[in-house]
Amino acid sequence: MKIATYTRHDNLMEKPRMAAMMQRLHGASIETYPINAGSDIRPGTDLVLSVGGDGTFLSASKRVGEAGIPVLGVNLGRLGFLSENSPEESCEALLSGRYEIEDRTLLKTSIEGEILDAETSFWPYTLNEISVLRSGAAILGVDVSIDGNRLPTYWADGLLVATSSGSTAYSLSVGGPICTPDAKVLIVAPIAPHNLNVRPLVVPESSRIRISLKSRDDRVMFSMDNRNVLLPPSAVIEVEVAQFSLKRVRLEKSSFIKALTTKLFWGEDIRNGSEQQ
Ligand code: NAP
Repeated sequence: MKIATYTRHDNLMEKPRMAAMMQRLHGASIETYPINAGSDIRPGTDLVLSVGGDGTFLSASKRVGEAGIPVLGVNLGRLGFLSENSPEESCEALLSGRYEIEDRTLLKTSIEGEILDAETSFWPYTLNEISVLRSGAAILGVDVSIDGNRLPTYWADGLLVATSSGSTAYSLSVGGPICTPDAKVLIVAPIAPHNLNVRPLVVPESSRIRISLKSRDDRVMFSMDNRNVLLPPSAVIEVEVAQFSLKRVRLEKSSFIKALTTKLFWGEDIRNGSEQQ
């Protein structure tokens, strides 16, 4: 077996728990090598080990790109929804082969208009969400069409389109619903809308979403997971589900509902504790 390791913080690989994991893998004749860019991935690689938190997992997914190599998230970060496994659990799973590979939907974005200030080369795929945000003080008007059906204009800080994987990320902060990872839906949610009567909308994954903007500022911020570009307000953004998915390694003990309770404290209520006693 050949494993590529990716981390945003090199010192994590030197932590005793990671060093012990690597030693056990090497002892079982598993070859490992570090990558920075997607082009570092060698032919015949079976898996990418993402070492860090969810942010690292998002970056690892970008490096895998369309290659279809499964990503296993080892959580040495903070929250860890995408990257949820300890080094010890990950090592056991790799040595025993007891894990599954699940497909996670990616979004594909096309932009009509000039990209003003790209931090990195534009890669149109995202695992969590895309969001469009005001870059100055002025309110943003966001027009959205879903399969050609126009919604009333949102007057807001911005708008996001999230996948089920992204439902526990930025979408959660703007009042979006939590979706189990296998739910084949997209969430369209305004960010800080200046209205009393708007709600996040859930649409099927087959939807084609077209976004256009009105702003008094000369640029808007467009975010794709943990990457940003600046666009002119005249840009038109089209979002649909990508033709390929991200292969995520899921360990046997993994439970999305358990993660909601242990990491986001869902259901934390003094009455629930007393019932269980
Ligand atoms: P970051 O700003 O350093 O961290 C964002 C936080 O979101 C981290 O705690 C991260 O978990 C968590 N996170 C990322 N993906 C998640 C997911 N699918 N489910 C649950 N939590 C998740 O940025 P980052 O780590 O590079 O992640 C980029 C993501 O941050 C974006 O895709 C967006 O969803 C989110 N974000 C949220 C807000 C907001 O809530 N107001 C604003 C901007 C961006 P770890 O601690 O495990 O890394």
